[in-house]
Amino acid sequence: MKIALIAHDKKKDDLLNFIYTHLDFFKKHELFATGTTGQRIIEHSGLAVHRCKSGPLGGDQEIGAMVANEAIDTIIFFRDPLTAQPHEPDVTALLRLSDVYDVPLATNEGTASAVIQYLSNKNRE
Ligand code: PGA
Repeated sequence: MKIALIAHDKKKDDLLNFIYTHLDFFKKHELFATGTTGQRIIEHSGLAVHRCKSGPLGGDQEIGAMVANEAIDTIIFFRDPLTAQPHEPDVTALLRLSDVYDVPLATNEGTASAVIQYLSNKNRE
């Protein structure tokens, strides 16, 4: 399964901890990420990650293009709801495309936990 991982700056540590907690799950999948998020994941967990550009430089749009090409199955995007983002239009576009293509997109840890639990069970079927 192809999973895209993104975190806004104030949420990056939360995403790293989340990935570390679920390392066995993430090891089994092909991972993609925006630039800085991907770099941090590689350094923190040693997982292999395909890195796109940094989010503010078009990384969210790159992942959106992959969604449109049906090359991403799930997105985990730890958003920071309390800080204005210069690239908010790109973020909105990614959320929209996930709805267009019916790609599960988790925007917080609670939903991400539910999604990966679901995917783990589905893999076992
Ligand atoms: P980054 O981008 O991983 O390059 O920081 C994430 C974002 O803010 O969209």
